[in-house]
Amino acid sequence: MANILMINVPAEGHVNPTLGMAKAFAERGDNVHYITTEKFKERLEALGVRVHLQPDFMQKLKGVDSVLKIMIEIAKDTLSVVRELAEQIDFDFVYYDTFGAGKLVRDYLGIPGISSSSSFLFSEEFMKKHGPIKAAEGNPEVERLIREIQDQFGVKADSPAQFMRNDGELNVAYTSRYFQPDSDQYGDEYVFVGPSFPERKGSRRGFPLEDLEGERVLYISMGTVLADKEAFFNMCIDAFSDFKGKVVIAAGERTDQSRLKASPDHFIISPYVPQLDVLQHADVFITHGGMNSVNEAIHFEVPLVVIPHDKDQPVVAARLNELGAGFVLSEEDVNDETLKKAVNEVAANEAYLKGIRKIKESFQNAGGVTRALAAVDRFVEEKQHGLPAN
Ligand code: UDP
Repeated sequence: MANILMINVPAEGHVNPTLGMAKAFAERGDNVHYITTEKFKERLEALGVRVHLQPDFMQKLKGVDSVLKIMIEIAKDTLSVVRELAEQIDFDFVYYDTFGAGKLVRDYLGIPGISSSSSFLFSEEFMKKHGPIKAAEGNPEVERLIREIQDQFGVKADSPAQFMRNDGELNVAYTSRYFQPDSDQYGDEYVFVGPSFPERKGSRRGFPLEDLEGERVLYISMGTVLADKEAFFNMCIDAFSDFKGKVVIAAGERTDQSRLKASPDHFIISPYVPQLDVLQHADVFITHGGMNSVNEAIHFEVPLVVIPHDKDQPVVAARLNELGAGFVLSEEDVNDETLKKAVNEVAANEAYLKGIRKIKESFQNAGGVTRALAAVDRFVEEKQHGLPAN
């Protein structure tokens, strides 16, 4: 029975993909300690995990420039929680997300560390050239926080990019080699196990799932991080005002609902919906191309219209396009007409479903949490007893 420390950044897109591993560790009797925010407590505790709370720094997120600084603030706070926990608990290893404190916690505790990635794997060069890391270049706050971490905990990040790219000697990827672009550049230290989707306790509360029974369902979500999507959702209300069936919009907690138009009765608009359940009923999904949303849609075989915005979304969209598994619309081309056309196209053209099924099959053959557990055990055994990995 191992004492396992799981650390992550407290975002839906990062915590949800780790639930399968948390559950698998707990089910076999390991003591799983997960540092996160109140938001994820219920779903983790339902899996038999001990939750240690930290403040929700994600609330401060304002556009792509703020992301890296927030990741470092989360990392610093995580280290302070770890310092307290380590007075009581001897951890055997840390299982960390690629974002956040990962390698710093491993080094601080001097224990084996395993990295897991909630999205595709990206090279350091790619990460430095795109998105939040580039946006934060030269930000004195970032430098100051890194120095504070070093002063207070005696561990130092290799570069600011580390807070969004914590790799390890063993890396678990919740995708398949087939879906991962250029997967042949990743060696045996990367285990591609596919995604898993355990139930998220509490997510159904207050949502009228029964209204979707027997209906044609169009599901629209731009994920949990994007803001300022009111105009887009209003466009969807116009475009699908005569849709024959139900239209579910997960508007996100950053959307100002008072800026949304009145919608016809066949719309269900909510800041947060039980996405796994809604996808089980959905006929088409209009998504921003967040990796988890895409994996979940593939699992439930829901044809995709993808409107990528930032971060990993353009890469996910391009890969879906390449594999014939999604219809990609660029943000500039989105209007009532293109939206309607895209939805009709993916609903009517079986080729998209065929593309999706091929990725789904690759997920099913990837080995899942069983394969990940075996790789983790072998790695930890080798680290603790100096045994060879194979
Ligand atoms: N999600 C949900 N309900 C919502 C919106 C999102 O359950 O109303 C979940 C979704 O199932 C997925 C995660 O939140 O697991 C979003 O992750 P993704 O990578 O798709 O996008 P992000 O929010 O990180 O941009």
